[in-house]
Amino acid sequence: MSNHRGSILGLFIFIILLALAFLSLYTRHLKALAFFKELPVPKESTPASIIDLDSKLKFSVRPHVQTQTSWNAPIMWELMFDDKLYDRMHKEAKTAVALTVFAVGRYLEAYLKTFLVSAEEHFMPGLPVTYFVFTDLPEEVPEITLAPRRNIRIVKVERHNRWQDISMMRMKTISEVIDKVLQHNFSYVFCFDVDQIFTGRFGSEALGESVALLHAHYYKLPKHRFTYDRNPKSKASMTAEGDFYYHAAIFGGTCEKVKALADFCYVNIMEDKLKNVEALWHDESHLNKYFWLFKPTKLLSPEYCWDNTISNAEDILIKRLVWAPKNYEKLRTR
Ligand code: UDP
Ligand code: MN
Repeated sequence: MSNHRGSILGLFIFIILLALAFLSLYTRHLKALAFFKELPVPKESTPASIIDLDSKLKFSVRPHVQTQTSWNAPIMWELMFDDKLYDRMHKEAKTAVALTVFAVGRYLEAYLKTFLVSAEEHFMPGLPVTYFVFTDLPEEVPEITLAPRRNIRIVKVERHNRWQDISMMRMKTISEVIDKVLQHNFSYVFCFDVDQIFTGRFGSEALGESVALLHAHYYKLPKHRFTYDRNPKSKASMTAEGDFYYHAAIFGGTCEKVKALADFCYVNIMEDKLKNVEALWHDESHLNKYFWLFKPTKLLSPEYCWDNTISNAEDILIKRLVWAPKNYEKLRTR
């Protein structure tokens, strides 16, 4: 009888031990599941939800300006969007943004600090941002106080002799950095000229798959005034009248789309060099050709890049970024 009791007890203990082993395995499995849940949302899930938000824009709230293109891409003007909605959606999607900026030669001392300090205040507030600063003078990059989850990476580049080449060859560097670093860590990349100052929110509403900027001097002009390259010898040459004149001081989008733009411009710039031709407005002419062939999915109004020397600013309800004073004489010589 006691033998029988002993074996029942043994079986009982065995069952308890088995249950404990299962429990421990199961909690480990749960932990593993939780770990995967904490990983960033896959990049592919982001653009679709953005298109969804863009369809909620108030296109008729700005009757005096064009708010949509013929291919239904939104043109972002103040009052059209709910900035909090965009921010919430991008925080949920764990959006991370890379910003590229070049400060080569005298442009570093003249512009970089103001650019970065003002970006910390106004560029993608509340989202993780990494600044990629390309310069020939890494040790002279100023120290900037950065908000949490905001970083800076300084990358040394060679200095081309001609300012036109400094400007144009940015496309090669942008393509390379997207390929090597950005595509693995960032949902979006925005590329900026350094000679500008943020003066108002430049937030997540500006993010999109392929984003182009309307040039402040041309957004009201008729198409025949656009200064596209018209020299048939250049790869940037346009025969069509075009859609808009875009400003190369700002462009952005998903890593994939920005890389496609940078590769297109770089290859065509190099083909031109082989033939000893240069497009009228250098990289900007090639960028305009690209956006003619591959339409941007979102346009930024000149509120996102205003030139204060333009006297008529009646359409500009908010200046989110302004041109810094140009001093070509002093800055473009060695
Ligand atoms: N750039 C630079 N050093 C130079 C020339 C140009 O770093 O000597 C970079 C800088 O980011 C600058 C951009 O290339 O903003 C485009 O040049 P720039 O602003 O002079 O062109 P623009 O605004 O007149 O078209
Ligand atoms: Mn510039």
